Amino acid sequence: MPVNKMLIETYFKKLKMPQAAKTYEALAREATENNLGYEEYLLGVLEQEIRQRENNRIQRGIRQAGFPVIKTLETFDFKAIPSLNKPKVLKLMQCEYIHKKENVLLVGNSGVGKTHIAIALGYEACRQGMKVKFYTAAGLINELLSAQQEYRLNKLQKQWLAPHLVILDELGYVPFSKIGAELLFQFCSSRYERGSLIVTTNLEFPKWTEVLGDEQMTAALLDRLTHNAHILNINGESYRFKQALARQTENV
Ligand code: ADP
Ligand code: MG
Repeated sequence: MPVNKMLIETYFKKLKMPQAAKTYEALAREATENNLGYEEYLLGVLEQEIRQRENNRIQRGIRQAGFPVIKTLETFDFKAIPSLNKPKVLKLMQCEYIHKKENVLLVGNSGVGKTHIAIALGYEACRQGMKVKFYTAAGLINELLSAQQEYRLNKLQKQWLAPHLVILDELGYVPFSKIGAELLFQFCSSRYERGSLIVTTNLEFPKWTEVLGDEQMTAALLDRLTHNAHILNINGESYRFKQALARQTENV
């Protein structure tokens, strides 16, 4: 290997620029063919490195978000759910609500695509470089409860505002213990006007007291969640159920 090449590759390695190391030769050939100057060539090499780093950062963010599966709007059939306000969903995909620290509530019966849309919104936020965390409501409450039992709640609390967006999926499927409901309330209150939440629920608002127990606390929680919130009502036939039916008819 020529000495210069060896040195260049060693230096790129020292500087932790793997993408530049990978592309600098091909870019040099291109630069010669296209009569590019030194500056343009250097710019090209640096841009490759920056772009790769940005991609890696986004991929890492998507992994850390903890989505149970990846869903995007590309695979979402809006025609299957005419009651859903499509322009509003598309607007939310621009993620402005996150910059404004507003919430999104997806309310509707089971199987209509609430989780699908919540994940698609979270995925887009990751793609835009934002920090996202996905929890099921029950999962978050368990995490909060064990933190409290192990005297780690204080430490955990400091991380509550770290994600730009938190998704709380399936609020209302399982009733919480009194202390679980209180911890959830604390969590949501701490993010109020300081970070965004997306909540998916099968519960109409008047029924929330049944799950959270305390009437006053439920009112206070709903007050915070719905203030400046984008509420999407999704009601219709379950997509899962419809697909299962379609498969059954095919098999007859
Ligand atoms: P929910 O959270 O409202 O119970 P999900 O989002 O989990 O419903 O949807 C159930 C399944 O059906 C998922 O696999 C989801 O991707 C799919 N699904 C639901 N609605 C649609 C739709 N309109 N277009 C495409 N897939 C859908
Ligand atoms: Mg769901």
